[in-house]
Amino acid sequence: MPEPKPLTCKICQGNRFQLKYEATYVYSYILDGDAPGLNNTKELLPFMYDSREQQDSKQYLHCDTCGFDYPCYFTDWDQEMGFAALQKIIDHAQVPSSS
Ligand SMILES: [Zn+2]
Repeated sequence: MPEPKPLTCKICQGNRFQLKYEATYVYSYILDGDAPGLNNTKELLPFMYDSREQQDSKQYLHCDTCGFDYPCYFTDWDQEMGFAALQKIIDHAQVPSSS
């Protein structure tokens, strides 16, 4: 297999990237006779929630060099997708013009 080419930022030509996944969740704790949350008795343990609702999520490829964020979806990442697909996302992204 050929050595994969590193991802290249089309703005700054940088090769260092991080995938970022931002998500917002609301956790609910039902109030009962003791600590909030049916699974909590003495104290409120944040991970012992009764329900969790995802409000929002955002995934992007962050260029470490210039700080630009390329929106993408990588939760369905597989070998098929790989770096070529990520490079395509970069190449097709709308970026501020350099004029
Ligand atoms: Zn960059």
